[in-house]
Amino acid sequence: MESRELPTGAGLSVRDVVVSFGGITALDGVSVEVSPGEVLGVIGPNGAGKTTLFNVICGFVRPSKGTLSWRGQPMVRVAPDRLASIGIARTLQGVGLFPGLTVLENVMVGAQRFRKSGVVMQMLGLPWSDRDERRQRDRALAALARVGCDDVADRMPGTLPYAVQKRVALARALVSEPELLLLDEPAGGLDARELSDLGELIKSLASSVAVMLVDHHMDFVVPVCDRVVVLDFGRVIADGEPSAVQRDPGVLEAYLGREAEDSDALTTSGSDDAHD
Ligand code: ATP
Repeated sequence: MESRELPTGAGLSVRDVVVSFGGITALDGVSVEVSPGEVLGVIGPNGAGKTTLFNVICGFVRPSKGTLSWRGQPMVRVAPDRLASIGIARTLQGVGLFPGLTVLENVMVGAQRFRKSGVVMQMLGLPWSDRDERRQRDRALAALARVGCDDVADRMPGTLPYAVQKRVALARALVSEPELLLLDEPAGGLDARELSDLGELIKSLASSVAVMLVDHHMDFVVPVCDRVVVLDFGRVIADGEPSAVQRDPGVLEAYLGREAEDSDALTTSGSDDAHD
């Protein structure tokens, strides 16, 4: 499959990024673009470089070559804890909720960027700080409602089903009102029904936020995404419309190690051991 001509735009642009760990080249000249309003899927077999790409965008890993830009501006040395302030939010693999905080408090943590009062004001309990907290609480409740979880706001995360916890983690990312949402393996640990519900939810978010999701599960990725990028051994081997990518001989070969004529191969969930 020919690679797409990458536009320069208002969204996120990753260009010619190289990352090496010792002798391993995890990303080898990777270019990816996510436009406003788009749901982009990044897939590939084990070790293809998906998590490394995610970590580069989040600022956890610094590339040795290449550039990133966000909303047309170079994205240089953005620390992970500063991402929300530039309009990018992420969820991590698993759920990563604080077990000792309620669902609402967990989501309020994600709304810190809207907080005007400092720690001292909060400790003194000044009225401005109270108003601030109320606003944060309202934002958190609205984010929980968006993912259908406002009815569990006062529960502790550990008492909830895993799929609900994942939605709460999504609310915590959404509460910062991002323009780009990065989802790392959102489908992990969910059953078919939960995957379908999550897919619908992600599609419904796309009118207000661009989404880039990294996942193995082809069944999940194809119906949810507007476009799919396939990585293999640190390189982009396909970038296009999901059903075309799904049929692409190079993708079939790389992803499942099968011959191209087995075009049904990718209708099952992505293999976890394609490179083994
Ligand atoms: P998976 O689907 O298994 O999570 P992936 O597509 O996310 O795989 P990466 O985790 O990005 O792939 O790994 C890409 C390559 O880089 C692999 O060969 C991996 O072993 C290597 N790698 C990733 N992180 C490190 C690290 N911190 N140190 C050394 N090698 C690493």
